[in-house]
Amino acid sequence: MTESPPRAWAEIDLSALLHNLAVARKLSGKEVMAVIKAGAYGHGLEETARALDDCGLPFLGVANAGEARRVARAGIKTTPYILGATLPAERAEIAVNGWTPCLCSLDEIAHFNQLGRAKPISAHLALDTGMGRGGFLPDQIPEALVAIKSSPGIKLTGIGSHLPVADEDETFTRQQIALYDKIATTIPQDHSPFHIHISNSAGLMKYRSVTSNLVRPGLLLYGISPFPDEQKQLKPVMSLKTRISVINELPKGHGVSYGRTLLTRDTKAAVLGIGYGDGYPRSLSEKGTKVLINGTLCPLLGRVTMDQIIVDVTELSKCQPGDEAILFGADLLVSDLALKAGSIPWELLTQITPRVERRYL
Ligand SMILES: *Cc1c(COP(=O)(O)O)cnc(C)c1O
Repeated sequence: MTESPPRAWAEIDLSALLHNLAVARKLSGKEVMAVIKAGAYGHGLEETARALDDCGLPFLGVANAGEARRVARAGIKTTPYILGATLPAERAEIAVNGWTPCLCSLDEIAHFNQLGRAKPISAHLALDTGMGRGGFLPDQIPEALVAIKSSPGIKLTGIGSHLPVADEDETFTRQQIALYDKIATTIPQDHSPFHIHISNSAGLMKYRSVTSNLVRPGLLLYGISPFPDEQKQLKPVMSLKTRISVINELPKGHGVSYGRTLLTRDTKAAVLGIGYGDGYPRSLSEKGTKVLINGTLCPLLGRVTMDQIIVDVTELSKCQPGDEAILFGADLLVSDLALKAGSIPWELLTQITPRVERRYL
């Protein structure tokens, strides 16, 4: 059977992923939990987990039991760590499979204690030092520790917290990490290894928690820095690509796309096979967005449609239908597009839809 290539695809460079992991290790000097939630930020959950499975990581960070199950079913041996509070209906599966939850409430402690009667469950204690998304507040920690102490079904093997403004507010983040480090020294470490962690990508790049022995980068592993100045040392893992389907010669004054953006000059307009149905944000319309074709940045014309965009290739001496176009990658950063779209790189990466074929290099 003849099978046509896709119109839009994402090239995933797994050697870049390993490069970025090495950067995370070097910058932090700590062990790494690779955060692979949300389909590894759009890079493919199983494929990314497989690439990281032999790297000696203690955990792969996932969002829920469903993602942990996919990782386990793919034959990955690294332990999934569930990054947020668990739903009651997820806990039996988590317990039975030996995935690591973080305990965010007394209800979770009581429930996991029950589920761990036959075989104790390794779990971390979640501390809320400022995120407000789950975990015990500093003054609730003694009560949580008492509950855990009287729970033979739970083995406390770590503590974790999360930074809400590591890329925005240095004063708060310094205070938060100091508070976390102070609390961490009061937690009994009856099991070894005992993991202490608070830093996401921004946290590990700009701050130091003296008690932590583990960091939890996501974005950084995919080669995007939360800080533009630190981008150079990273290698973007995903390149989003498409092809020119047709090139139209349009006269000055002619409209382009929905809403009829009027051309201000005679224009060579290339049509590309990607749109918001692929996750290329419609909010990039009319923002001075560029697309890379044959090494030249070409301006987006008019609005992004569901399956196609139109690009001004008037200045391009050489281009023809079938030529490749890069929407983002190493030379056109998804973080810069996100700024234009009024969004963040985390959102742009995770919203690339299944229609975009992932190709692993
Ligand atoms: C998503 C997430 C991370 C990773 O954050 P990045 O900013 O992508 O590095 C780390 N910890 C927790 C709890 C998360 O939810």
